[in-house]
Amino acid sequence: MTEQKQTGDSKAMHIIVITLFPEMIEQACGHGVLGRAVQNGVLKLDCINPRDFTHDRHRTVDDRPYGGGPGMLMKYQPLADAIAEARRVARRPAGNDAHVVYMSPQGRPLKQADMRAQAAALGRRSLILLAGRYEGVDERLLEAQVDEEWSIGDYVLSGGELPALVVIDAMLRLCPGVLGDDESARQDSFMDGLLDCPHYTRPARIDGRGVPEVLLGGDHKAIESWRQRQAIWRTWRRRPDLIAAMKQAGQWSDEHERLLQAMLAETEQGD
Ligand code: SAM
Repeated sequence: MTEQKQTGDSKAMHIIVITLFPEMIEQACGHGVLGRAVQNGVLKLDCINPRDFTHDRHRTVDDRPYGGGPGMLMKYQPLADAIAEARRVARRPAGNDAHVVYMSPQGRPLKQADMRAQAAALGRRSLILLAGRYEGVDERLLEAQVDEEWSIGDYVLSGGELPALVVIDAMLRLCPGVLGDDESARQDSFMDGLLDCPHYTRPARIDGRGVPEVLLGGDHKAIESWRQRQAIWRTWRRRPDLIAAMKQAGQWSDEHERLLQAMLAETEQGD
């Protein structure tokens, strides 16, 4: 097992990635927000390589599919043994067993709300992420060992390492104390159902473009209201499906509707 950093803090959230390419995970988790989380002992990250659980000279982890066809499949036994090892080293906060997830294009497509739920669950149980390669894994392994399958979108990647990293990053930035300012995650797109508003930084004028006057004035109430209207407007133009989802979930308030109608009226006047 490759260990990123052995922290003495037993309260650290614990993620174990089962992968043929541990360096991919370790290198990506050595930088930025994730790097700090590992460094500060907020996240304990382990990688387990199924190749270490093979018993032949060539350390074979793949084989041809029954019935023929192109490509290879990951074999049952090295994966089952790697998962058993992951379960053995997993932390058991509150006595809970680890949750085993196979990253798969056929899995449940994850949204920000799922990331929030999973981030909260990290405090209660270790998470084992299985990264596939080749054409995937023997179906019996999924039936016997995996609790859930997660997808990062309707497209196919060559391996589960990038999807695992996407999930780790998205979850971790929602965990308290991981970002410099927890408020910044709360203001991100999708957190309240809407896209984020536009942002600007210095200088106040560049290449003939200025900054909306309200942001320069220091009136916090006016700034907050401008941001809310921009978020609604941007979501309405770019992702009307998100507004439809908010309406369906009962999250679209009279105030949202009033602000949207005001923006629409303003645009009509400007036309
Ligand atoms: N034959 C599989 C299929 O069509 O469902 C695709 C296998 S893919 C080439 C190899 C591995 O990449 C998968 O086992 C999975 O772990 C990972 N993978 C690819 N796309 C993914 C996605 N959208 N979400 C999560 N994992 C993905």
